Amino acid sequence: MLCERCKKRDSVAVVGGRKLCILCARDEIIKRIKRQFYPNKVLVYGEHILFAYPIYLSQISDLLKIILLDKIYKKFSLSYSELPINPTNSIIDDIWSIIIKSKIFSKQNNINKVILPFTADFLMAYLIYSISKGDYTYINLLDFEYKLDNILFLIPFYNTSIIELQGFINANELNLITKDEFFNIIIKWETELLKDNYELFHAFHNSKKLFQEKNYKCEGCGGLINSPVKYCGRCSVAFASHPY
Ligand SMILES: [Zn+2]
Ligand SMILES: [Zn+2]
Repeated sequence: MLCERCKKRDSVAVVGGRKLCILCARDEIIKRIKRQFYPNKVLVYGEHILFAYPIYLSQISDLLKIILLDKIYKKFSLSYSELPINPTNSIIDDIWSIIIKSKIFSKQNNINKVILPFTADFLMAYLIYSISKGDYTYINLLDFEYKLDNILFLIPFYNTSIIELQGFINANELNLITKDEFFNIIIKWETELLKDNYELFHAFHNSKKLFQEKNYKCEGCGGLINSPVKYCGRCSVAFASHPY
């Protein structure tokens, strides 16, 4: 089938509901990311940024590096550091670890923008996981921005699913396997069930509002907690001997 945009080449990917060729698919994704970054001038000339990622999302992080450094911010002379994080057997511990390690690294290196490679399908699986565990600590990550102290975490693919990235990577070969078995089951189920209903990946973010009420924020990781204490459970254990 021909690309619905240029009508010249064969379509290889569905982006925003349209079947597109490789060039148009790439262009649509880059335009989408640009729309998130540009209006507010999120990154500035000469800025040093951090790419933090769990190792099972390293390919997505590499792709973001290309899109931001070589395409959208090509003339901005940005530089970057990388922070790969080893997975644990809990996806919530993985997220905590990324946030805390990025925070420490950023403070030590004078960085205040951190790019995270979470995709819409990953975040939606995290939402389902949160609901089934009754743990909504990081529900605010279902957005483009997550603010913590003076650090701004940016999630450029928060509304883009891996399937839409087919113009850049082979989404079928990218096996998103974490060390959390339950999370893996959700991701697999979601991918199979929703692969033809990708518009859902653009529509679930608002459901986080249902879980945000009457919550306090942890001073360590910014996660939501139920009572007005300083730290969440994870941070209070970790900081008992070593406050950050
Ligand atoms: Zn095309
Ligand atoms: Zn915390």
